[in-house]
Amino acid sequence: MNESLVIIGAGHAAGQLAASLAQDGFKGAVTLVGEEPHPPYQRPPLSKKFLAGEVTLDRLYVRPPAFYDKSGVRLMLDTRAVAIDRSARTVVIDGGAALPYTTLVLATGSRPRALPLAGNDLDGVLYLRTVQDVQAIRARLAAGRRLVIVGGGYIGLELAAVAARQKLQVTVLEQAPRLMARGVGPIVSGFYERLHREEGVNVITGTAVSGFAGDDRVTHVVCGEARHEADLVVVGVGAAPNVELARDAGLAVEDGIVVDAQCRTADPAVYAVGDCTRRLHPMLDQNLRLESVHNALEQAKIAAASICGRPPPAMETPWFWSDQYDVKLQMAGLSGGHDTAIVRGSPDSGRSFAVFYLRDGVLIAVDAVNRMPEFMASKALIAARARPDPSRLGDERVAMKAFAV
Ligand SMILES: Cc1cc2nc3c(=O)[nH]c(=O)nc-3n(C[C@H](O)[C@H](O)[C@H](O)COP(=O)(O)OP(=O)(O)OC[C@H]3O[C@@H](n4cnc5c(N)ncnc54)[C@H](O)[C@@H]3O)c2cc1C
Repeated sequence: MNESLVIIGAGHAAGQLAASLAQDGFKGAVTLVGEEPHPPYQRPPLSKKFLAGEVTLDRLYVRPPAFYDKSGVRLMLDTRAVAIDRSARTVVIDGGAALPYTTLVLATGSRPRALPLAGNDLDGVLYLRTVQDVQAIRARLAAGRRLVIVGGGYIGLELAAVAARQKLQVTVLEQAPRLMARGVGPIVSGFYERLHREEGVNVITGTAVSGFAGDDRVTHVVCGEARHEADLVVVGVGAAPNVELARDAGLAVEDGIVVDAQCRTADPAVYAVGDCTRRLHPMLDQNLRLESVHNALEQAKIAAASICGRPPPAMETPWFWSDQYDVKLQMAGLSGGHDTAIVRGSPDSGRSFAVFYLRDGVLIAVDAVNRMPEFMASKALIAARARPDPSRLGDERVAMKAFAV
């Protein structure tokens, strides 16, 4: 039988999957169904250099557009998959046509969590996930304008950095007591609060937004009794996985499509990869859903290998990064559940230090601020479940290569 593989979603994971299938020698027909008008592109620059206007869209593509033609991949852009019929093995797209598959891969990603508050639909209340979102935001970034960012996570803070450099008046409102609380430890949060204040951003933590005010266009963000003037509001309060298609098709969903180590769902013909999945992570021993480029690329390569009957690629420690001003944050592992935090360098002055997180003496994560050697060494140490001497870890005189495993 001729194999026919359909990928739903044309994002980062899907682009890598198409490339890995070609590399692994997949012989069947591949169709990529994506609701956005662009071939698969990288999202990280959307809140960094692309937002700042420093790179153009063609630099964002996961593979050059010509790759798909050359590799015989059929790109169906501007096309939304609306249903999966698992017994007929077809995907229904908008307009009603049915695409047959022998293997289906869900790569539907995630979407910004909406804030269902009064005034959410006012003109000027925006979200940041796609190229179109950035184009809408960029068109309104002008020096002197008041930008209120709801959410002090990495996307909100990257936007704050770009906007502050473009001389907007920027306010960040964060409900938690500290910034980037989901991603980094308290020491690093404290550093980022100082960093943004130094750059002129008004950071307010521990404040919950209760609504947006204005006639047609937003003029204020309301936080209980307090009102913050705004010409533009961008909401960045996390992402929700796009799981509806899978759920409606009867696949297991638990805040993410449940997959195994090979990215297979319980249906042997259906895989899922990227932001939309949840899995027992073999290296972290945790059941989790990761939203990162590393995860999207890794799962795409694993799924391609599994589909082509090849051995899976070697696993790497999960990692993530964020660029704000002249500061590169690189994180590896997950720091939740640590019992010891060791600091190398000074978070209270300057812009370069690292925090190592240990549990029962084992290094489980690092947050490295402008510290590439600490990040690179820690990735390997975490994978090896190493037990570095904490006093030496914190000692700047001991080079990171001394800890090599
Ligand atoms: C602004 C921003 C900055 C980021 N910065 C970083 C960073 O610095 N480092 C990092 O590691 N990660 C970063 N990320 C996260 C990273 O981009 C995601 O983890 C990654 O894009 C996940 O890839 P994916 O293919 O799973 O999902 P996506 O790239 O979101 O792709 C999913 C695609 O599927 C489409 N789709 C969904 N449902 C359907 C349907 N029914 N029919 C057709 N198409 C559908 C969606 O429209 C989307 O185009 C950032 C994300 C954003 C938004």
